[in-house]
Amino acid sequence: MLEIKSLEAGYGRIGVLWDIDLTVGEQEIVALVGSNGAGKTTLLRAVSGVIAPTKGSIVFEGRDLSGLVPEQVVRRGIAHVPEGRRLFAGLTVRENLKLGAFHLKDSASADFDRVVELFPRLGERLDQIAGSLSGGEQQMCAIGRGLMSRPKLIMIDELSLGLAPNLVDQLLERLETIRSEGMSVLLVEQDVDAALTLAERAYVLETGQIALEGSGDELLFDKRVREAYLGVA
Ligand code: ATP
Repeated sequence: MLEIKSLEAGYGRIGVLWDIDLTVGEQEIVALVGSNGAGKTTLLRAVSGVIAPTKGSIVFEGRDLSGLVPEQVVRRGIAHVPEGRRLFAGLTVRENLKLGAFHLKDSASADFDRVVELFPRLGERLDQIAGSLSGGEQQMCAIGRGLMSRPKLIMIDELSLGLAPNLVDQLLERLETIRSEGMSVLLVEQDVDAALTLAERAYVLETGQIALEGSGDELLFDKRVREAYLGVA
């Protein structure tokens, strides 16, 4: 469904990504892991149209995304939950969620109900200002806002950042639910163990290039991954 080929991207004249080939299939959870500064966020930004690639192609459901701005990429069915969640802190949970459905002409009430069903804690806090939510609730709200756009693919950057392990497990379980409802997930994650355990397939990005790829299990037991990212030999 998502096919990235020979992608290069960066900021101004500074190249960050080199010769990236990556795919995400229908109803697949794919993890992207790698050390700080490897270019994981940059890759998601290139897909969502925040930055323009300098080379290569990004094709989604058979259509090239090049030249599209983020709003158009959302309309094509890709939601991007950015690192740091980027909620509108002064708006309520309800208002933040509704902003995710900005481009839909019909009523988004069924989508709204679905998000609340997925994250009941948000349902109890719909009129609370997003800036006063806990870190975990903010992440739920950010994912919920992404889901409100009715994506076919949701890309989540650093799901676990700053969250307690049991909460991370709960959120990862929700990704499994999201997938079972028909969506694909591209997950950028610092918690390499959790990401590889959940994902069917994964890529390891090192200094802007794909260093390894394989099934989640293959990479979880790969010697190089264990030494570099899991701290075990
Ligand atoms: P982390 O895990 O630390 O978030 P990452 O793998 O997501 O890292 P990126 O955020 O994509 O890495 O950063 C890759 C490189 O691009 C880094 O060297 C970073 O300094 C640089 N970079 C990121 N954003 C910008 C920007 N807006 N302008 C210039 N350089 C940037």
